[in-house]
Amino acid sequence: MPTTVKAYAATSATEPLTPFEVERRDVGPKDVKIDIAFAGICHSDIHTARSEWGPAAYPVVVGHEIAGTVAEVGSEVTKFAVGDRVGVGCMVDSCGECKNCTAGNEQFCLEGNVGTYNSVGKDGQPTHGGYSQSIVVTEGFVLRIPEGIELDEAAPLLCAGITTYSPLRHWGAGPGKKVAVVGLGGLGHMAVKIAAAMGAEVTVLSQSLKKQEDGLRLGATHYYATSDDSTFEDLKGSFDLIVNTVSAQLDFDKFLSLLDVNGAMVNVGLPEDPISLQMFSVVMGNRSFAGSNIGGIAETQEMLDFCAEHHIGSDVETIPAEKINEAYERVLASDVRYRFVIDTATL
Ligand code: NAP
Ligand code: ZN
Repeated sequence: MPTTVKAYAATSATEPLTPFEVERRDVGPKDVKIDIAFAGICHSDIHTARSEWGPAAYPVVVGHEIAGTVAEVGSEVTKFAVGDRVGVGCMVDSCGECKNCTAGNEQFCLEGNVGTYNSVGKDGQPTHGGYSQSIVVTEGFVLRIPEGIELDEAAPLLCAGITTYSPLRHWGAGPGKKVAVVGLGGLGHMAVKIAAAMGAEVTVLSQSLKKQEDGLRLGATHYYATSDDSTFEDLKGSFDLIVNTVSAQLDFDKFLSLLDVNGAMVNVGLPEDPISLQMFSVVMGNRSFAGSNIGGIAETQEMLDFCAEHHIGSDVETIPAEKINEAYERVLASDVRYRFVIDTATL
Protein backbone atom coordinates (compact mmCIF):
# COMPACT_ATOMS: atom_id res chain seq x y z
CA MET A 1 0.00 0.00 0.00
CA PRO A 2 1.41 3.39 -0.90
CA THR A 3 1.68 5.59 2.17
CA THR A 4 0.58 9.15 2.57
CA VAL A 5 3.00 11.45 4.37
CA LYS A 6 3.03 15.06 5.44
CA ALA A 7 4.79 17.56 3.22
CA TYR A 8 4.90 21.21 2.16
CA ALA A 9 4.13 22.06 -1.45
CA ALA A 10 4.19 24.94 -3.88
CA THR A 11 0.78 25.16 -5.55
CA SER A 12 1.49 28.06 -7.92
CA ALA A 13 4.33 30.39 -8.87
CA THR A 14 2.97 33.17 -6.70
CA GLU A 15 1.37 31.55 -3.63
CA PRO A 16 3.34 30.71 -0.47
CA LEU A 17 4.16 27.04 0.12
CA THR A 18 1.46 25.28 2.16
CA PRO A 19 0.98 21.98 4.04
CA PHE A 20 0.29 19.12 1.66
CA GLU A 21 0.08 15.33 1.69
CA VAL A 22 2.17 13.28 -0.67
CA GLU A 23 1.88 9.61 -1.59
CA ARG A 24 5.00 7.46 -1.48
CA ARG A 25 5.11 4.25 -3.49
CA ASP A 26 5.39 0.77 -2.01
CA VAL A 27 8.92 -0.34 -1.31
CA GLY A 28 9.96 -2.39 -4.36
CA PRO A 29 12.71 -5.05 -4.30
CA LYS A 30 15.49 -2.52 -4.99
CA ASP A 31 13.97 0.37 -3.04
CA VAL A 32 15.01 2.05 0.18
CA LYS A 33 12.44 3.90 2.25
CA ILE A 34 13.95 6.83 4.13
CA ASP A 35 12.56 8.65 7.13
CA ILE A 36 13.63 12.19 6.31
CA ALA A 37 15.05 14.09 9.29
CA PHE A 38 16.20 17.29 7.56
CA ALA A 39 15.81 18.92 4.15
CA GLY A 40 17.97 21.84 3.03
CA ILE A 41 16.54 24.83 1.20
CA CYS A 42 18.47 25.29 -2.04
CA HIS A 43 17.99 28.38 -4.18
CA SER A 44 17.01 25.95 -6.96
CA ASP A 45 13.93 25.04 -4.87
CA ILE A 46 12.90 28.69 -5.08
CA HIS A 47 13.63 28.97 -8.81
CA THR A 48 11.44 25.87 -9.34
CA ALA A 49 8.63 26.72 -6.90
CA ARG A 50 8.29 30.09 -8.63
CA SER A 51 8.53 28.65 -12.18
CA GLU A 52 11.59 30.79 -12.88
CA TRP A 53 13.11 28.05 -15.05
CA GLY A 54 9.90 27.35 -16.94
CA PRO A 55 6.49 26.20 -15.70
CA ALA A 56 6.61 23.80 -12.74
CA ALA A 57 4.12 20.90 -12.47
CA TYR A 58 2.02 22.04 -9.48
CA PRO A 59 1.53 20.98 -6.81
CA VAL A 60 5.24 20.29 -6.31
CA VAL A 61 7.08 19.31 -3.16
CA VAL A 62 10.61 20.61 -3.67
CA GLY A 63 13.77 19.77 -1.67
CA HIS A 64 16.81 17.89 -2.95
CA GLU A 65 19.09 18.07 0.07
CA ILE A 66 17.74 15.15 2.03
CA ALA A 67 19.21 13.47 5.12
CA GLY A 68 17.60 10.80 7.26
CA THR A 69 17.64 7.17 8.25
CA VAL A 70 16.62 4.01 6.45
CA ALA A 71 13.15 2.85 7.56
CA GLU A 72 12.68 -0.14 5.26
CA VAL A 73 14.57 -1.95 2.51
CA GLY A 74 13.38 -4.07 -0.41
CA SER A 75 14.26 -7.76 -0.68
CA GLU A 76 17.09 -7.20 -3.20
CA VAL A 77 18.74 -4.25 -1.47
CA THR A 78 22.33 -5.08 -0.54
CA LYS A 79 23.99 -1.80 0.35
CA PHE A 80 21.68 -0.48 3.08
CA ALA A 81 19.98 -1.72 6.22
CA VAL A 82 17.29 -0.30 8.48
CA GLY A 83 18.75 2.45 10.68
CA ASP A 84 21.56 3.49 8.31
CA ARG A 85 22.21 7.23 7.99
CA VAL A 86 21.59 8.18 4.38
CA GLY A 87 21.03 11.05 2.00
CA VAL A 88 19.42 11.80 -1.35
CA GLY A 89 20.40 14.63 -3.67
CA CYS A 90 19.03 16.05 -6.91
CA MET A 91 18.39 12.77 -8.74
CA VAL A 92 16.43 9.63 -7.81
CA ASP A 93 16.91 7.51 -10.95
CA SER A 94 18.41 7.30 -14.45
CA CYS A 95 18.62 4.70 -17.25
CA GLY A 96 21.84 3.25 -15.80
CA GLU A 97 22.96 2.03 -19.22
CA CYS A 98 23.89 4.94 -21.46
CA LYS A 99 27.47 6.13 -21.86
CA ASN A 100 27.00 8.94 -19.38
CA CYS A 101 25.39 6.77 -16.69
CA THR A 102 28.05 4.09 -17.04
CA ALA A 103 30.75 6.79 -16.79
CA GLY A 104 29.28 7.92 -13.47
CA ASN A 105 27.61 11.02 -14.90
CA GLU A 106 24.03 10.06 -14.14
CA GLN A 107 23.11 13.74 -14.10
CA PHE A 108 23.64 13.69 -17.87
CA CYS A 109 21.73 10.44 -18.52
CA LEU A 110 20.88 10.40 -22.22
CA GLU A 111 17.29 9.49 -21.39
CA GLY A 112 17.18 12.29 -18.85
CA ASN A 113 17.73 11.61 -15.17
CA VAL A 114 14.71 11.46 -12.88
CA GLY A 115 14.88 14.59 -10.76
CA THR A 116 14.06 14.33 -7.08
CA TYR A 117 11.16 16.72 -7.70
CA ASN A 118 9.25 18.30 -10.57
CA SER A 119 10.11 15.28 -12.70
CA VAL A 120 8.37 12.02 -13.65
CA GLY A 121 9.47 8.73 -12.10
CA LYS A 122 9.81 5.43 -13.95
CA ASP A 123 6.35 4.57 -12.57
CA GLY A 124 4.93 7.51 -14.51
CA GLN A 125 4.13 9.43 -11.34
CA PRO A 126 5.35 12.97 -10.59
CA THR A 127 8.31 13.03 -8.23
CA HIS A 128 8.19 14.94 -4.96
CA GLY A 129 11.21 15.93 -2.90
CA GLY A 130 12.52 16.47 0.56
CA TYR A 131 10.07 18.88 2.21
CA SER A 132 8.28 15.74 3.40
CA GLN A 133 8.53 13.08 6.07
CA SER A 134 9.68 10.17 3.94
CA ILE A 135 10.76 9.18 0.46
CA VAL A 136 11.23 5.91 -1.44
CA VAL A 137 14.31 5.80 -3.68
CA THR A 138 16.01 3.05 -5.67
CA GLU A 139 19.17 2.01 -3.80
CA GLY A 140 21.61 3.20 -6.50
CA PHE A 141 20.62 6.80 -5.79
CA VAL A 142 20.91 6.62 -2.01
CA LEU A 143 24.12 7.97 -0.45
CA ARG A 144 25.73 6.92 2.79
CA ILE A 145 26.29 9.72 5.31
CA PRO A 146 29.52 8.91 7.16
CA GLU A 147 29.74 9.02 10.94
CA GLY A 148 31.03 12.33 12.19
CA ILE A 149 28.66 14.56 10.21
CA GLU A 150 25.37 15.41 11.94
CA LEU A 151 22.33 14.85 9.73
CA ASP A 152 21.29 18.52 9.69
CA GLU A 153 24.78 19.60 8.65
CA ALA A 154 24.95 16.79 6.11
CA ALA A 155 21.71 17.55 4.26
CA PRO A 156 23.07 20.55 2.28
CA LEU A 157 26.07 18.51 1.15
CA LEU A 158 23.73 16.53 -1.10
CA CYS A 159 23.38 19.52 -3.44
CA ALA A 160 25.47 22.51 -2.31
CA GLY A 161 28.35 20.19 -1.36
CA ILE A 162 28.56 18.15 -4.55
CA THR A 163 27.83 21.13 -6.83
CA THR A 164 30.93 22.89 -5.56
CA TYR A 165 33.15 19.84 -4.90
CA SER A 166 32.81 18.57 -8.47
CA PRO A 167 34.09 21.67 -10.33
CA LEU A 168 36.79 22.28 -7.69
CA ARG A 169 38.08 18.75 -8.33
CA HIS A 170 37.64 18.97 -12.07
CA TRP A 171 39.55 22.27 -12.38
CA GLY A 172 42.32 21.24 -10.03
CA ALA A 173 41.77 23.29 -6.87
CA GLY A 174 44.62 22.43 -4.52
CA PRO A 175 47.94 23.62 -3.12
CA GLY A 176 49.44 26.48 -5.12
CA LYS A 177 46.10 27.40 -6.74
CA LYS A 178 44.28 30.65 -6.20
CA VAL A 179 40.53 30.12 -6.11
CA ALA A 180 37.88 32.84 -5.90
CA VAL A 181 34.33 32.08 -4.81
CA VAL A 182 31.70 34.56 -5.99
CA GLY A 183 28.66 34.81 -3.67
CA LEU A 184 28.76 33.65 -0.07
CA GLY A 185 25.42 31.85 0.14
CA GLY A 186 24.59 28.15 0.43
CA LEU A 187 26.80 26.97 -2.43
CA GLY A 188 29.42 29.65 -1.84
CA HIS A 189 30.08 28.76 1.78
CA MET A 190 30.53 25.10 0.83
CA ALA A 191 32.89 26.10 -1.99
CA VAL A 192 35.01 28.05 0.51
CA LYS A 193 35.19 25.17 2.99
CA ILE A 194 35.92 22.52 0.37
CA ALA A 195 38.46 24.55 -1.64
CA ALA A 196 40.32 25.41 1.58
CA ALA A 197 40.31 21.74 2.63
CA MET A 198 41.75 20.85 -0.79
CA GLY A 199 44.65 23.19 -0.01
CA ALA A 200 43.83 26.11 -2.31
CA GLU A 201 44.23 29.77 -1.36
CA VAL A 202 40.65 31.02 -1.23
CA THR A 203 39.27 34.50 -1.83
CA VAL A 204 35.60 35.41 -1.32
CA LEU A 205 34.07 37.94 -3.71
CA SER A 206 30.85 39.07 -2.07
CA GLN A 207 28.60 42.02 -2.80
CA SER A 208 29.65 43.70 0.47
CA LEU A 209 31.98 43.15 3.42
CA LYS A 210 29.04 42.24 5.74
CA LYS A 211 30.01 38.57 5.95
CA GLN A 212 33.79 39.05 5.95
CA GLU A 213 34.36 37.58 9.41
CA ASP A 214 32.38 34.49 8.47
CA GLY A 215 34.21 34.09 5.18
CA LEU A 216 37.58 34.06 6.92
CA ARG A 217 36.30 31.64 9.58
CA LEU A 218 35.02 29.31 6.85
CA GLY A 219 38.51 29.05 5.37
CA ALA A 220 39.06 32.01 3.05
CA THR A 221 42.32 33.96 3.27
CA HIS A 222 41.04 37.07 1.50
CA TYR A 223 37.66 38.76 1.23
CA TYR A 224 36.64 41.57 -1.14
CA ALA A 225 33.47 43.50 -1.90
CA THR A 226 32.48 43.48 -5.56
CA SER A 227 30.51 46.70 -5.02
CA ASP A 228 33.90 48.41 -4.67
CA ASP A 229 35.43 49.00 -8.13
CA SER A 230 38.97 48.98 -6.74
CA THR A 231 38.50 45.23 -6.09
CA PHE A 232 38.61 44.65 -9.85
CA GLU A 233 41.72 46.80 -10.21
CA ASP A 234 43.54 45.17 -7.27
CA LEU A 235 42.79 41.58 -8.29
CA LYS A 236 43.26 41.84 -12.08
CA GLY A 237 44.71 38.62 -13.54
CA SER A 238 45.15 36.93 -10.19
CA PHE A 239 43.01 33.74 -10.04
CA ASP A 240 43.48 30.28 -11.48
CA LEU A 241 39.84 29.47 -10.88
CA ILE A 242 36.68 31.42 -10.15
CA VAL A 243 33.60 29.52 -8.98
CA ASN A 244 30.52 31.63 -9.58
CA THR A 245 27.62 30.63 -7.32
CA VAL A 246 25.49 33.73 -7.90
CA SER A 247 21.82 33.18 -8.71
CA ALA A 248 21.55 36.48 -10.61
CA GLN A 249 23.23 38.34 -13.49
CA LEU A 250 26.82 39.53 -13.14
CA ASP A 251 29.11 41.73 -15.21
CA PHE A 252 30.95 38.69 -16.55
CA ASP A 253 33.61 40.71 -18.37
CA LYS A 254 34.70 42.25 -15.09
CA PHE A 255 34.94 38.87 -13.35
CA LEU A 256 36.79 37.27 -16.29
CA SER A 257 39.40 40.04 -16.07
CA LEU A 258 40.35 38.63 -12.66
CA LEU A 259 41.60 35.37 -14.20
CA ASP A 260 45.26 34.62 -14.76
CA VAL A 261 46.41 33.27 -18.15
CA ASN A 262 44.72 29.88 -18.70
CA GLY A 263 42.39 30.53 -15.78
CA ALA A 264 38.82 29.29 -15.71
CA MET A 265 35.56 30.76 -14.52
CA VAL A 266 33.13 27.97 -13.70
CA ASN A 267 29.50 28.87 -13.31
CA VAL A 268 27.15 26.91 -11.10
CA GLY A 269 24.60 29.68 -10.46
CA LEU A 270 21.61 29.51 -12.78
CA PRO A 271 19.90 32.87 -13.34
CA GLU A 272 16.75 32.65 -15.42
CA ASP A 273 17.74 35.08 -18.20
CA PRO A 274 20.46 34.78 -20.88
CA ILE A 275 23.78 36.46 -20.15
CA SER A 276 26.15 38.45 -22.32
CA LEU A 277 29.91 38.84 -22.42
CA GLN A 278 32.66 40.10 -24.70
CA MET A 279 34.49 37.30 -26.50
CA PHE A 280 37.68 39.29 -25.89
CA SER A 281 37.27 38.52 -22.18
CA VAL A 282 37.92 34.83 -22.79
CA VAL A 283 40.12 34.93 -25.89
CA MET A 284 42.65 37.23 -24.25
CA GLY A 285 44.55 35.15 -21.70
CA ASN A 286 43.31 31.79 -23.08
CA ARG A 287 40.61 31.80 -20.45
CA SER A 288 37.82 29.27 -20.04
CA PHE A 289 34.20 30.15 -19.31
CA ALA A 290 32.61 26.95 -18.10
CA GLY A 291 29.66 25.44 -16.26
CA SER A 292 29.10 22.53 -13.92
CA ASN A 293 25.98 20.61 -12.94
CA ILE A 294 25.87 18.80 -9.56
CA GLY A 295 27.94 15.57 -9.79
CA GLY A 296 27.40 11.86 -10.34
CA ILE A 297 26.46 9.39 -7.62
CA ALA A 298 29.96 7.95 -7.08
CA GLU A 299 31.42 11.45 -6.93
CA THR A 300 28.73 12.49 -4.44
CA GLN A 301 29.76 9.63 -2.16
CA GLU A 302 33.40 10.64 -2.62
CA MET A 303 32.46 14.20 -1.57
CA LEU A 304 30.63 12.97 1.54
CA ASP A 305 33.64 10.87 2.53
CA PHE A 306 35.97 13.83 1.85
CA CYS A 307 33.80 16.09 4.04
CA ALA A 308 33.77 13.54 6.88
CA GLU A 309 37.54 13.18 6.67
CA HIS A 310 38.00 16.96 6.80
CA HIS A 311 35.25 17.53 9.41
CA ILE A 312 33.20 19.59 7.01
CA GLY A 313 29.47 20.07 7.40
CA SER A 314 27.25 22.90 6.26
CA ASP A 315 26.65 25.90 8.56
CA VAL A 316 22.91 25.57 9.03
CA GLU A 317 20.00 27.45 10.52
CA THR A 318 17.38 24.85 11.35
CA ILE A 319 13.78 26.01 10.97
CA PRO A 320 10.32 24.57 11.50
CA ALA A 321 8.15 24.04 8.40
CA GLU A 322 6.01 27.08 9.15
CA LYS A 323 9.09 29.28 8.53
CA ILE A 324 9.76 28.00 5.00
CA ASN A 325 8.22 31.01 3.24
CA GLU A 326 10.06 33.43 5.49
CA ALA A 327 13.30 31.54 4.81
CA TYR A 328 12.70 31.89 1.06
CA GLU A 329 12.52 35.68 1.44
CA ARG A 330 15.70 35.67 3.48
CA VAL A 331 17.54 33.59 0.85
CA LEU A 332 16.40 36.06 -1.82
CA ALA A 333 17.73 38.92 0.31
CA SER A 334 21.15 37.14 0.64
CA ASP A 335 20.36 36.85 4.36
CA VAL A 336 21.26 33.21 4.90
CA ARG A 337 24.09 31.91 7.10
CA TYR A 338 24.52 29.69 5.29
CA ARG A 339 21.80 27.14 4.62
CA PHE A 340 18.28 26.86 5.96
CA VAL A 341 17.41 23.30 6.88
CA ILE A 342 13.85 22.20 7.58
CA ASP A 343 13.27 19.99 10.61
CA THR A 344 10.77 17.61 9.01
CA ALA A 345 9.36 16.56 12.39
CA THR A 346 7.54 19.93 12.28
CA LEU A 347 5.74 19.28 8.98
P1 NAP B 1 22.02 31.49 -2.27
O1 NAP B 1 22.19 30.82 -0.96
O2 NAP B 1 20.92 32.45 -2.48
O3 NAP B 1 23.45 32.17 -2.62
C1 NAP B 1 23.64 33.00 -3.72
C2 NAP B 1 24.57 34.14 -3.32
O4 NAP B 1 24.80 34.93 -4.48
C3 NAP B 1 24.00 35.10 -2.31
O5 NAP B 1 24.16 34.68 -0.99
C4 NAP B 1 24.78 36.37 -2.59
O6 NAP B 1 26.05 36.30 -1.97
C5 NAP B 1 25.00 36.30 -4.10
N1 NAP B 1 24.01 37.12 -4.83
C6 NAP B 1 22.66 37.03 -4.79
N2 NAP B 1 22.10 37.94 -5.59
C7 NAP B 1 23.12 38.63 -6.15
C8 NAP B 1 23.20 39.69 -7.09
N3 NAP B 1 22.09 40.25 -7.59
N4 NAP B 1 24.42 40.13 -7.47
C9 NAP B 1 25.54 39.57 -6.97
N5 NAP B 1 25.52 38.57 -6.08
C10 NAP B 1 24.34 38.10 -5.67
O7 NAP B 1 21.82 30.41 -3.43
P2 NAP B 1 22.44 28.92 -3.57
O8 NAP B 1 21.46 27.95 -3.02
O9 NAP B 1 23.83 28.94 -3.13
O10 NAP B 1 22.36 28.74 -5.15
C11 NAP B 1 23.08 29.63 -6.01
C12 NAP B 1 22.71 29.37 -7.46
O11 NAP B 1 23.20 28.10 -7.85
C13 NAP B 1 21.21 29.33 -7.75
O12 NAP B 1 20.98 29.95 -9.00
C14 NAP B 1 20.91 27.85 -7.82
O13 NAP B 1 19.78 27.53 -8.58
C15 NAP B 1 22.16 27.36 -8.49
N6 NAP B 1 22.45 25.93 -8.30
C16 NAP B 1 23.08 25.29 -9.32
C17 NAP B 1 23.43 23.97 -9.20
C18 NAP B 1 24.17 23.29 -10.29
O14 NAP B 1 24.20 22.06 -10.34
N7 NAP B 1 24.81 24.03 -11.16
C19 NAP B 1 23.11 23.28 -8.03
C20 NAP B 1 22.49 23.96 -6.99
C21 NAP B 1 22.17 25.29 -7.13
P3 NAP B 1 26.76 37.61 -1.32
O15 NAP B 1 25.77 38.13 -0.31
O16 NAP B 1 27.99 37.05 -0.72
O17 NAP B 1 27.03 38.56 -2.43
ZN1 ZN C 1 20.21 22.46 -5.07
